Amino acid sequence: MAISDTRAATPPSQASSQSLEELWMPFTANRAFKAKPRMLVAAKGMYYTTADGRQVIDGTSGLWCVNAGHCRDEIVDAIREQAGTMDYAPPFQMGHPLAFALAEEVVKILPRDIDHVFFGNSGSEAVDTALKIALAYWQAKGQPQRTRFIGRSRGYHGVGFGGVAVGGIEANRKQFAANMLPLVDHVPHTHDLSRNAFSRGMPAHGAEIADSLEAMVTKYGADTIAAFIIEPVAGSTGVLIPPKGYLERIRQICDKHGILLIFDEVITGFGRLGSAFAATKFNVTPDMMTVAKGITNAAVPMGAVCVRGDIYDTVINAAAAGIELFHGYTYSGHPLAAAAGLATLALYKSEGLFERAASLESYWEDAIHSLKGSPHVIDLRNIGLVGGIELEPRPGAPAARAFETFLKCFEAGVMVRSTGDTLAVSPPLIIEKSQIDQIVSTIASTLRTVA
Ligand code: PLP
Repeated sequence: MAISDTRAATPPSQASSQSLEELWMPFTANRAFKAKPRMLVAAKGMYYTTADGRQVIDGTSGLWCVNAGHCRDEIVDAIREQAGTMDYAPPFQMGHPLAFALAEEVVKILPRDIDHVFFGNSGSEAVDTALKIALAYWQAKGQPQRTRFIGRSRGYHGVGFGGVAVGGIEANRKQFAANMLPLVDHVPHTHDLSRNAFSRGMPAHGAEIADSLEAMVTKYGADTIAAFIIEPVAGSTGVLIPPKGYLERIRQICDKHGILLIFDEVITGFGRLGSAFAATKFNVTPDMMTVAKGITNAAVPMGAVCVRGDIYDTVINAAAAGIELFHGYTYSGHPLAAAAGLATLALYKSEGLFERAASLESYWEDAIHSLKGSPHVIDLRNIGLVGGIELEPRPGAPAARAFETFLKCFEAGVMVRSTGDTLAVSPPLIIEKSQIDQIVSTIASTLRTVA
């Protein structure tokens, strides 16, 4: 039996009297959820088990993170063993072998030249760390006036103040707008339905949108810009796939002006696109990469910034003796996360999961594009094992139609994600073709029931 066929174990019993009040849920409509909760109590392989005992196929790898499928024995065992051997070790002025081993293993699959890894606990921490490293680098280089960051509209870089400032999702910024990082600007995103609707894979039009970065150079001067950060494939804003030639042009402009290029690979890393990273898929190498999620198959939280060797050398060598970078987390390289990460990378390799994702890509593409003609669908996008299904917004109620579709799919046994008016699907890389069919046919039948 394939791993993806295994079902979750019988759920632990859940007291119906349990109070839901005390927990403040993240990025959730708390009142609506607590009035009608959706509870998950177990997971195995491709499936979640709900509190009422239903099996729900995971079409989203949790939150783009459980790339090898749920509760994999190899990862569970590694965490269990490490928890009994050494639960914690301080990462400041002390080390433990697993953190070094994991950095070494991550470097083996990174693009050449990116060969140092700084650990944190989440994508948000990775992004804020990368922005700090960029500032520290320019100080060490003797160009301390390079302090400006450029992001992209609709970008999502987590929820730290740095990540929200460089991010470009308005709803995430407006409650905190009074205290954004000051020296930040944004270039336009690449989403263009008028030219690219229903593209298969990378859209043909839009490479020239990269030139908006040149406009930033004209506006501020290259020697004030520290770094440009983008998601090579944007996920949380609704699956935006880079037009052909766009990333190459971005790389050229950054090179021309000495601007550090950061790829936020928090969702694209670890096989999601059928290659280790977006950088390896698209053959465009940034100067830094932020990763998280799939690094541990989400079994223990972990994030990391991966940097070019000369960035590391510059910061380290410019410092007087002593600490070189005044940054780090109590849980940087946590032993349980490191153990989970090592087991996860070993599993990706032994099962060839990145290659498996690549081999499923065309089947996935056909399945996603079979939704053309379904009610409300105004665009379909795909790359690797990522699909975006954009729906016509309901007049006066943006995002409502996609959210309702998500709810109904969940009731029908399929977990999809809604973000704005787009449904995002990104299943574990262990998915079988029959399960792809199940996910897509459930979306199709659900769309027929949504007003
Ligand atoms: N960056 C990107 C591109 C993401 O998609 C996410 C989360 O989805 C983050 C950063 C934030 O990661 P976390 O939620 O682990 O802080």
